[in-house]
Amino acid sequence: LVELRGVNKFYGDNQVLRNIDTIVNRGEIVALIGPSGAGKSTLCRAINRLETINSGEILIDGVSLPDEGRQLATLRADVGMVFQSFNLFAHKSVLENVSLGPVLVRKMKKADAEKIAMEHLERVGVANQAHKMPAQLSGGQQQRVAIARALAMNPKVMLFDEPTSALDPEMVAEVLDVMLDLAKTGMTMIVVTHEMGFAREAADRVIFMADGQIVEEAPPETFFSAPATSRARDFLQKVL
Ligand code: ATP
Ligand code: MG
Repeated sequence: LVELRGVNKFYGDNQVLRNIDTIVNRGEIVALIGPSGAGKSTLCRAINRLETINSGEILIDGVSLPDEGRQLATLRADVGMVFQSFNLFAHKSVLENVSLGPVLVRKMKKADAEKIAMEHLERVGVANQAHKMPAQLSGGQQQRVAIARALAMNPKVMLFDEPTSALDPEMVAEVLDVMLDLAKTGMTMIVVTHEMGFAREAADRVIFMADGQIVEEAPPETFFSAPATSRARDFLQKVL
């Protein structure tokens, strides 16, 4: 579903993605982990074309991501993205936050989009907050709205970039629970996370990145019990 072929990315002289090759299959849950600066966020942003790449190819459902244009907007709508910092529209209600994309990008009627928005807000457990403004919600609630907003676009794949890192500890579980539920529905997910418990429980595969490279890819049972490289062993010693 998501195919990366020889992806390279530079910031000036600094190569931050080195020949990234991998395929994420439909329904697969991939946990992307690795030390700070490894290139995890850059990779997520490249999949959504929030970053350009210098060489290589990224395909979503067999279609190569273009650099710009209307086709990019459509392809991008197929890739839901949830960031560390929620990124809700501050001056719009929760309901508007979730219904706006389907109206603007999917050309849905407002009433239909609001109905779908309410279903997704229900699903993530914040339907009763629909008419509030984002600032009136807790961090955990805001992040669940952000997930609902991404889901309302009916994406083919969901990318999460450290979705719980900015949350107070007591709110982490409510967001991880929503993600676990989503994983069980067969959604394809790529999750950058420092929550090793989540990676162990939910992921089909762990991708361990360091210095812009994929160093190791393995099922979580294998990766956590018997990492193959010293880089991964060092990393796990620090985080577990
Ligand atoms: P973290 O765990 O801290 O979020 P990460 O794995 O997500 O780290 P990236 O944010 O992808 O890492 O960064 C990879 C490298 O790219 C780092 O060396 C970083 O300094 C560099 N980098 C990221 N964004 C930019 C930018 N806009 N301009 C220049 N360099 C950048
Ligand atoms: Mg990052």
